Amino acid sequence: MEQTNPARVLEGIAAGPGGAVAPVARMAAPPSLPDREPGVADTEAEKETARSALEGVAADLEARAASLDGEAAAVLNAQALMARDPELSRQIEEAISADRAAAWAVWEACGRYQDLLLAAGGYLAERAADLADIRDRAIAALLGLPMPGLPDPGHAHVLVAEDLAPADTVRLDTSRVKAIVTRLGGPTSHTVILARSLGLPAVVGCSGADELTDGTTVAVDGDAGTVEVDPAPEVAERVRARAERRRAVLAESSGPGRTRDGVPVSLLLNAGEGDPEEAAAHDSEGIGLLRTEFLFLDRADPPTVAEQTEAYTRLFRAFKDRTVTVRTLDAGSDKPLAFAATGEEDNPALGVRGFRTSRVHPDLLADQLTAIAAATRACEDTRVRVMAPMVSTAAEAGEFAALARAAGITEVGVMIEVPAAALLADRLLSHVDFVSIGTNDLAQYTMAADRTLGALPDLLDPWQPALLALIQRVGDAGRGRSVGVCGEAAADPLLALVLVGLGVTSLSTAPPALPAVRYALARHTEEECRALASVALDAPGPAREAVRRAAHPEVTDL
Ligand code: PEP
Ligand code: MG
Repeated sequence: MEQTNPARVLEGIAAGPGGAVAPVARMAAPPSLPDREPGVADTEAEKETARSALEGVAADLEARAASLDGEAAAVLNAQALMARDPELSRQIEEAISADRAAAWAVWEACGRYQDLLLAAGGYLAERAADLADIRDRAIAALLGLPMPGLPDPGHAHVLVAEDLAPADTVRLDTSRVKAIVTRLGGPTSHTVILARSLGLPAVVGCSGADELTDGTTVAVDGDAGTVEVDPAPEVAERVRARAERRRAVLAESSGPGRTRDGVPVSLLLNAGEGDPEEAAAHDSEGIGLLRTEFLFLDRADPPTVAEQTEAYTRLFRAFKDRTVTVRTLDAGSDKPLAFAATGEEDNPALGVRGFRTSRVHPDLLADQLTAIAAATRACEDTRVRVMAPMVSTAAEAGEFAALARAAGITEVGVMIEVPAAALLADRLLSHVDFVSIGTNDLAQYTMAADRTLGALPDLLDPWQPALLALIQRVGDAGRGRSVGVCGEAAADPLLALVLVGLGVTSLSTAPPALPAVRYALARHTEEECRALASVALDAPGPAREAVRRAAHPEVTDL
């Protein structure tokens, strides 16, 4: 009898729905310096070697930028500039003059720079990861090791990595990457958020991922959380057919959000940096969260009222006949801005941030409201709503509403991101027209777990019943009013059903997540959503799996 090898199936956590079959391309681990540092015979030649390694890194980044557009290209070009930073070269050459070999000099100089960026915190700290990438690439070139970072095999592939860092996300080319498998990561890790926002199948926490080598064909099942190595042709065919069916079914999902029994649930986009016309081309009912920080970042001074008015007008125009929900500047903590500084803080996440910034810099908010009101007047056919981030009390909600209305804005809301605001949502709602729940921050403050810390993914899990109980409280307080969710939680189709069951009336998410959310909603009645919400709320802990079992098979089998 003919012997067939049993299928080798690696198991992990289902992290992004759908499936794909493609060869593996591994993200190479960062190079490490050998124990023995070689001596330097000719320091001038050594400096030249270091210069040309960094120039090679910069040129490579630019070449990759040339094949992309928009934000992704801008990020790569900015990173190339960093690789050519004269101060960085000077420090490397200084180290070589002190007899360090080129790779060691690069390590030292980049390390010093990174420390400075990390100490600055927030946005600059995120650039530290870009600098680490430059360092690793230059060292790999100098030591003749495989290039670290995202692989580019030139064809469709399954990306296999230890884990994905935020800095990797923007560079991911979704025309080539068909699925993501990582060895590390929990149910809410950055990789999961990324995969969902890109609409890619993903398996995380897959301990066997280490054995996957470049070029090996794998079948990834992002619903079951499995990775089959060298799948038999019929298995590969089944996964491909299912992925194809999923694509076709989701491509058919269009129009406004509705439950099966016709209850409207607005499906909106999270937007920020990027082309407004491109954002408007997505099938959505508008924008549920416009992160206006993009207008303020990377600047020494705030944008003028005229500059802001122009940017908002272009965006409102692109969303003619739809809704745009503008969030006023959310400065501080993970989004620091030099001109919105509020003094030294040991715990910036608990400090003067979000709406609180206006206590110190009232003009920033006043100017922004003036600009939004002016742009609204210029675009009568767009329904513009304005909300403030990080509001904690009814008094703050009242204060913001008064300022916004005095500026001429008619629809005013606040974000619910702090447990205090969720607990007294009814009182906040007596001052404003709508609320939008920011589950990213609400999870952080409910569980006392820093959202920027990778070490506590279980506590930040949006399926935590304590978080859902607060959302239910907001849903109850808001009956008959607009209660949105604009945090990452809205991107998970199963959690979206639970949120609707808790009283949420609109969901705002990254564009690729919308079709699956729309599809899931259309297959459940409001009553069924309530039943799923009870399953999640009453569970002893995060209960995605239990909700998955209780949801409609047309959704879970897709
Ligand atoms: C949130 O906190 O959930 C949110 C949507 O705001 P941001 O992620 O921009 O803080
Ligand atoms: Mg927030």
